Amino acid sequence: MNRMRTLRRVRSKALIAVFCATTACLAQESDSSGSAKSLSPPADPHIQTALGQISAQRIQANIEKLVSFGTRSTISSQDAQAIASGHGIAAAREWIRSEFERYSKDCGGCLEVKEDSFVEQPVDRIPAPTKITNVYAVLKGSDPENSKHIVLVTGHYDSRNSDTLDVNGDAPGANDDGTGTAVSLECARVLSKMKFPATIIFLTVAGEEQGLNGSQHFAKMAKDQGWDIEAVLNNDIVGGDKNSEQDHSVVRVFSEGLPAAASEQDIRRIRGLGGENDSGSRQLARYIADIGRAYDTGVKPTLIFRLDRYLRGGDHSAFNQQGFAAVRFTEFREDFHHQHQNVRTENGIEYGDLAKFVDFDYVAAVARLNAATLASLALAPGPPSNVHLLTKDLENNSTLTWTASPGELAVDYEILWRGTTSPEWEHAQKFGKVNRATLKLSKDNVIFAVRAVDRDGHRSLPVVPVPER
Ligand SMILES: [Zn+2]
Repeated sequence: MNRMRTLRRVRSKALIAVFCATTACLAQESDSSGSAKSLSPPADPHIQTALGQISAQRIQANIEKLVSFGTRSTISSQDAQAIASGHGIAAAREWIRSEFERYSKDCGGCLEVKEDSFVEQPVDRIPAPTKITNVYAVLKGSDPENSKHIVLVTGHYDSRNSDTLDVNGDAPGANDDGTGTAVSLECARVLSKMKFPATIIFLTVAGEEQGLNGSQHFAKMAKDQGWDIEAVLNNDIVGGDKNSEQDHSVVRVFSEGLPAAASEQDIRRIRGLGGENDSGSRQLARYIADIGRAYDTGVKPTLIFRLDRYLRGGDHSAFNQQGFAAVRFTEFREDFHHQHQNVRTENGIEYGDLAKFVDFDYVAAVARLNAATLASLALAPGPPSNVHLLTKDLENNSTLTWTASPGELAVDYEILWRGTTSPEWEHAQKFGKVNRATLKLSKDNVIFAVRAVDRDGHRSLPVVPVPER
């Protein structure tokens, strides 16, 4: 509703804008209704086919399998006997790896199934040196230039009950975070049947409940090795808990404002120019909103401009710490009786994170939204780089420059803009295959971004310019 109102308000101003690119200069009325349509991508029939293959039954079976390990506490036993008896986190880890390997077999070995394993020394919630293993599958991009671009989906496969140090008691972790693990698995199964120019990583991490240990290790490894991860989708508690006040039509998407990895210089610029609503994570959140409008996934994203819920944290923040754009998906209304609780009934209230509270159709809808986002990003050109807004002279026009997206996919560049008080992009204008454009709009009054588009309309993440004197 807010968005529609904003668009109407802008339209009533009937702005006349003159758009100049390197090769051409054209005058046209800014038609925000046309622009609004062009902001969301056209639905890609291949992606729609993939979304149709996401199965609530498979997701249910995977969540029930995860629950069957009794506990998936990161500090539970990992010895051979525990694995053989199907109890504890190592048994869960072995099963997840075998699932990824099975999907890979079905696509002719298209997935590289890997482990990121390390020993965490005793800290707060880890009483003894503990092996922590992240399990992941890599669907390598088919295009040599674009395969360096990585999009990633993650969930944590560890679980806990009332006591983070309890290694034996039941900790079913159906919703938290069997659901996120199931989303990573189902996206891998379905998307591995497609080919993408960019690389997709399907990740499941451990150690989340002990202190984000697994994701911190993975994100640091990615940073140290120079991986170009442009988007991280973290799914944690996406079960649509069946409480009476649940809204099964929406999923929350949390994103950081001021980037955790911002330098002092970045913060000075953000403070001076009003950039606090334009982190990479927030561009990713807006991209997900566009995908939610383009595809009928069964659930609509609602953007929460906040890192996470009060008193809570999650794996996306470990990626934010390393400078990656990362968001968190979480059901609309959580039932705290069903999280981090020993399974029991007290005063007629059922406690514990049991599979019977999870709405598997809802998880499938969230998986579709994730898969559509991953596929759209992995099919799109990489974002343009070195995006600058020229500020050398005092003038009322705005000139942007950028370095082309790598590889041959980009056939067009679009400049997006919105009012400084608007939550989402309001206008998009195509400029062709150029690397510079001038708009008759004052940079003082709007926020700009540039994105790359391929011949089928797949869009990169938008990049907000930095000022260049
Ligand atoms: Zn969780």
